[in-house]
Amino acid sequence: MVKAYRPTSLSEALLIRKYHDVIIFNGGTDLMVKYRNWTSVAPNFPKDVLYIGHLDELKHIDEKSDNLIFGSAVTYAQLLKHQHISHDLKNLIEQIGSIAIRNIGTLAGNACNASPAGDILPVLYALNANLTLKSADHSRVVAIHDFIEGPGKTNLRSDEIVTEITLKNQTFSHTFYRKVGTRKANAISKVSVFIVADVRDGRMEDIRITIGACGPKVVRVYEAEQLLKGKIVVEIQNIISEVLNIVANKITPIDDVRSTQEYRTKVACNLIETFLVKELIL
Ligand SMILES: Cc1cc2nc3c(=O)[nH]c(=O)nc-3n(C[C@H](O)[C@H](O)[C@H](O)COP(=O)(O)OP(=O)(O)OC[C@H]3O[C@@H](n4cnc5c(N)ncnc54)[C@H](O)[C@@H]3O)c2cc1C
Repeated sequence: MVKAYRPTSLSEALLIRKYHDVIIFNGGTDLMVKYRNWTSVAPNFPKDVLYIGHLDELKHIDEKSDNLIFGSAVTYAQLLKHQHISHDLKNLIEQIGSIAIRNIGTLAGNACNASPAGDILPVLYALNANLTLKSADHSRVVAIHDFIEGPGKTNLRSDEIVTEITLKNQTFSHTFYRKVGTRKANAISKVSVFIVADVRDGRMEDIRITIGACGPKVVRVYEAEQLLKGKIVVEIQNIISEVLNIVANKITPIDDVRSTQEYRTKVACNLIETFLVKELIL
């Protein structure tokens, strides 16, 4: 029988984490699937469980200087109601899970689960998110691309808890997100593409391109971004095939139960072409 810890403060949670080998349980929407058991039987957790999803100290959403800061127990539903969250980000969040999942699922859980198909991860990569990791003895800040080391693998230490996620609160002239799944709700992405771009006076000042479910980690296509940056938008038509070539060479999708390598490559390239031609140049 496993023990369940329900601390009343973050400092208590950090002490439990320091002295006990526990699974951190936030919304539990990934964990309850991972350790599912027969119907009506309690989940099969291999070790003790530490609940953190109820802790008020992890539920804040703040706007400080140029940053948006989310406590790690902030749910998708909380983000959907919040004034500081852009309309584009809310549209994206509405494509994650279902209402029930969004009511308890968290960004931090998505990041710590480190699935290459995690739908919030392309956003975190594109917006250069930093995670604050705390233990009873120290605190450190790690960039998302260093935090996630591979599928299901992060560099979280055994005494740490992710307490905050920080994003630069930048505005972009264009935001594009497409998630391709088997159906509209409760579907794991076969491919996802997230792009933010900033076009001023007809010139591409900034662009970030991230692709989910097409490699062991979310792929940020820096080489394609470099090629596009500084270009006059109407001239981008001439380099689209070069951009798509870079993308096709950069991603490393696999064949699995959800899709094939060929399909994923084709769809990722088609979506980026759709953005460049239909949303940018037209
Ligand atoms: C029906 C269904 C539909 C879903 N649909 C989608 C979807 O469309 N898109 C998508 O991306 N995902 C989807 N998911 C997966 C899941 O809902 C998300 O990944 C969600 O964001 C996980 O958050 P959580 O708080 O529930 O994580 P949890 O299950 O609580 O935790 C996930 C992992 O992160 C660790 N963890 C959580 N918080 C912390 C922390 N603060 N510090 C350290 N470690 C931590 C946990 O120990 C665990 O290993 C779906 C799941 C279900 C069951």
